[in-house]
Amino acid sequence: MPVRIDRIIKKLEEQKGKEGRLPQVLEFYQKLVHIQDRVGKRVGVPNPRFSDNEISSRIAQGKPLVGFEDLVIDLPLLRKTFREIAAIFAEYQELIGPIPEQLTEPIADQFITQESAKAWFEGTKLPDTVAINNDNETLFREIIHASLRPLMLSYSVAVIDMVKQEDWRRGYCPVCGGNPDFGFLDNEHRSRWLVCSRCDTEWLFQRLQCPYCGTTDQNVLAYFTDDEGLYRLYVCEQCKHYLKTIDLRQAKSEVLIPLERMYTLDIDKQARELGYSPCN
Ligand SMILES: [Zn+2]
Ligand SMILES: [Zn+2]
Repeated sequence: MPVRIDRIIKKLEEQKGKEGRLPQVLEFYQKLVHIQDRVGKRVGVPNPRFSDNEISSRIAQGKPLVGFEDLVIDLPLLRKTFREIAAIFAEYQELIGPIPEQLTEPIADQFITQESAKAWFEGTKLPDTVAINNDNETLFREIIHASLRPLMLSYSVAVIDMVKQEDWRRGYCPVCGGNPDFGFLDNEHRSRWLVCSRCDTEWLFQRLQCPYCGTTDQNVLAYFTDDEGLYRLYVCEQCKHYLKTIDLRQAKSEVLIPLERMYTLDIDKQARELGYSPCN
């Protein structure tokens, strides 16, 4: 079940209260989360109806429960959200890098279509109108990811209980088909769970397998830990991707995965320096 946005807001407020001011990256994130919270309340809870047969057949075939055609996208709301989020990105260019004007001006609306949302969702090539150059394309994907996040979370909340964890155990999300960008080792059984980069669905996965290329060859899989043993960086020599993971048994305070993504940006940097790339 995704972490509720109000818990993230509360934890950031507490941190701000304690430290006086949030680090810039968290300040940026806090602004995004406030927009996502507001949009999430407008999106509401979807009610996709699947029969038990449909659910088991999809799961057995490795088909995620929600396809693009199941998403009900409110385009005017998405356009407004995109503009608001692009404006926050533009405010933090020092942190993020330059934002082309096309993405922050009202003209950006023309990029937000069913086709571009579909291309983002399915990981296919963006329409030519958007794919102006590589830099724009990466940014566009990041901003649309942040803009569609409230909708994606609402689908996860609506359908995750329909998935029998033992029956899935694949390297991609059972709800939306997204790739994991975080993992955790649970308190009780030391099982490894993966977390979807798009909808925050959590699902059970093998401890000794790469979720990205599927290899189980132990000669190409490894992990590094930090001094406290709280974080692990799983790496795969076969596909050269990495996965950040937190060991909940070592955690001394409440763990909220969306915030952990931000707390561990240094690990991403180290992973890239070691020659691995994220896969999300
Ligand atoms: Zn997902
Ligand atoms: Zn791999």
